[in-house]
Amino acid sequence: MDNFDRLAVHTMTTKPWDLPTACAKYAEGGLSGMGVWRQWLEGRSLEESRMLLDDHGITPASLVRGGFFPYATVDEKQTALDDNFKAIDAAAVIGAPQVVLVCGAKPDLSLAESRKHITEGIASCIAHAKSVGVKLAIEPLHPMYADCRSAVNTIGQANDIIDQVGDEWVGIAADVYHIWWDPQLEGEIIRAGSRIIGFHVCDWLTPTNDFLNDRGIMGEGCINIRGIRQLVEATGFQGWIEVEIFSDRYWATDQDKYLTQIKNAYLQHV
Ligand code: ZN
Repeated sequence: MDNFDRLAVHTMTTKPWDLPTACAKYAEGGLSGMGVWRQWLEGRSLEESRMLLDDHGITPASLVRGGFFPYATVDEKQTALDDNFKAIDAAAVIGAPQVVLVCGAKPDLSLAESRKHITEGIASCIAHAKSVGVKLAIEPLHPMYADCRSAVNTIGQANDIIDQVGDEWVGIAADVYHIWWDPQLEGEIIRAGSRIIGFHVCDWLTPTNDFLNDRGIMGEGCINIRGIRQLVEATGFQGWIEVEIFSDRYWATDQDKYLTQIKNAYLQHV
């Protein structure tokens, strides 16, 4: 029996589809979960977006994304905080339980300095997140993005930050693409325990032709997705399994067929 109860697909995965199309297509495909990227909320009110989701029986698993905390100036610091508050508010309106944080990095700051800004930034968002009932999910990114996307590159570093800011409203989104290589993975997932509030899947291709937009469908690459899923679920995690694939190759194909491929890959490899 097909069971897609926990399968959520990120709107970025099916990039050619706008929100109304994605809602209709996911629902038609028997899916009920969606990772909503903020760009997909543009052009209509948040309330209208929520209605679209509700009308199609789609539950937002996450809002993607907030973060980008490291700053060079006080103005930049404030702009980042304002943007994160806005993301948290948007998540609350559309009913997303968490905002995924791509924490940020700046090539002209040391990684340690960036992580300090990230820790402070997250701490500054907690009261607001709590007030609207939305969690913050730190998503460690693969170290190939440590220059300008995230200075948080391992579950261990996310755990270290949460040790400092508290874990009531801050958790971790574990994305197999970013963490599969980590020799400390098992121990740090165990250490994270109930902090794991998101699980993202895709696959790592060999060769990878583009560091951003050449991810594979689950089963196409070298990641032990089932193994990581077992580690994550051993912590008690039973939330959405979010398919997040950036792929110029797949975006250029028929998205209906692609969604079917994703569903098949989910059943076979996740
Ligand atoms: Zn992810």
